[in-house]
Amino acid sequence: MERFVIIGAGAAGIKAAERIRKMEDDAQITVISIDDQVHSRCMLHKVLGKERTEKGINFVPENFFEVNKIRFIDTEAVTRVDTKKQEVTLACGAFVPYDKLLLATGSAYVVPPIPHFREAGNVFGFRDLSDARAIQTALDTYGKNVFIVGSGLVGLDAASALTHLGGKVTIAEMADRVMPLQTDAYAASVYQAAFEKAGCKFKLGVSANDSVVDDNGNIIAVQLSNGESIPCDFIIVAAGVRPKVDFLKDSGIEIERGIGVNEFLQTNIPNVYAAGDVTGLSGVWPDAMEQGKTAAMNMCGAVLEYEKPYPFKNTSNFYGITMLSVGKLDDKEEGVKICTHKGKDSYKKAFIKDGKLQSILIQGDISNTGIYLYLIRKQIPLGDLSEKVFNLSFADFYGYNENTGAYEFAG
Ligand SMILES: Cc1cc2nc3c(=O)[nH]c(=O)nc-3n(C[C@H](O)[C@H](O)[C@H](O)COP(=O)(O)OP(=O)(O)OC[C@H]3O[C@@H](n4cnc5c(N)ncnc54)[C@H](O)[C@@H]3O)c2cc1C
Repeated sequence: MERFVIIGAGAAGIKAAERIRKMEDDAQITVISIDDQVHSRCMLHKVLGKERTEKGINFVPENFFEVNKIRFIDTEAVTRVDTKKQEVTLACGAFVPYDKLLLATGSAYVVPPIPHFREAGNVFGFRDLSDARAIQTALDTYGKNVFIVGSGLVGLDAASALTHLGGKVTIAEMADRVMPLQTDAYAASVYQAAFEKAGCKFKLGVSANDSVVDDNGNIIAVQLSNGESIPCDFIIVAAGVRPKVDFLKDSGIEIERGIGVNEFLQTNIPNVYAAGDVTGLSGVWPDAMEQGKTAAMNMCGAVLEYEKPYPFKNTSNFYGITMLSVGKLDDKEEGVKICTHKGKDSYKKAFIKDGKLQSILIQGDISNTGIYLYLIRKQIPLGDLSEKVFNLSFADFYGYNENTGAYEFAG
């Protein structure tokens, strides 16, 4: 009976476990996780804001492990992987042997090297259920003035939840706009206005570069690069992540941007695969799931390449305003034609290069946007259709042959 061990119970790890069970009825499957329950990080803000229970963000049925005959070792960290003996070591000292191993440990937040940030007791990240619990306690212990470093998706998720709980939130962002990787100036201003209406304050185009601590070593104010000092009760850092690979020291597994993998999601070590955020290939939920599935199939003997993720694909929804952004949104890139459309409740911007759709930003109604993903993925020449880029449908590309790059119609 083959022994499959999966480290990580996030999108990639759970999807992989489910797929292995579908393919191998007899396999022994073990999932190991530091988390004490399966949960969706995308919904973490709902728990922080007390809009959902912890159980309410579990994305598998309660009897998932039982039904699928999967051994779930929760609340336990893997501290070492011995690729020669083919076994992993748990923090409690136990060993778990494997025939095939999947590394799906995601990423960890980075605390920026600002004086006192790495030692203070009142600096938190926002990545796991345990972080959401710690931040809720911090509101009671330290107070309601929260300083958030970074206005990306994670920083804004935390801000929306905290304002919901009556927190007084200030967000510092080095770029000149919120969610700089996913917005342009206009889309950012729409989101910023919605957050300001809810009570958030923004400090844009500045960095936090120093802090003031009290006698207990807790930070009571953050110094900004423009000379301002912002008093605060505690801090949330949302300014970057790194792959969680500390436990792989001396394993022989190669680490590049994340864990190095080939097109089949195999590492340089036989029988060891990796999927999800930890590979550094992408940082979004659907890609992690897809990679978990592909890795699992390859672990079961298939030979399947993973689908290259869309660059910078992201969807968000704050205060009922949805947004989709795919690709690099660089207004200044040479040779790029930009088309924009501002409706009453929607904003659209398309970046076309060499007659092909390169990137898209849509804020407001993001239904029927599959066509744009298709055009970006397949790099289909738009021809005259670029004139009506915001009114396209799949029917416009009927007969297009992806292999020949020509339109072919029967008859
Ligand atoms: C606040 C927040 C909001 C987000 N919102 C969105 C969104 O709206 N849309 C979107 O597409 N993406 C979003 N993301 C990103 C998305 O959550 C990730 O891309 C996705 O969770 C990655 O899945 P994963 O399985 O690779 O890793 P993770 O979900 O991070 O899971 C990693 C697992 O590994 C376990 N683990 C780590 N180290 C060890 C160890 N040493 N031993 C044992 N277990 C270990 C962890 O306990 C965890 O179970 C968000 C992320 C955050 C933090």
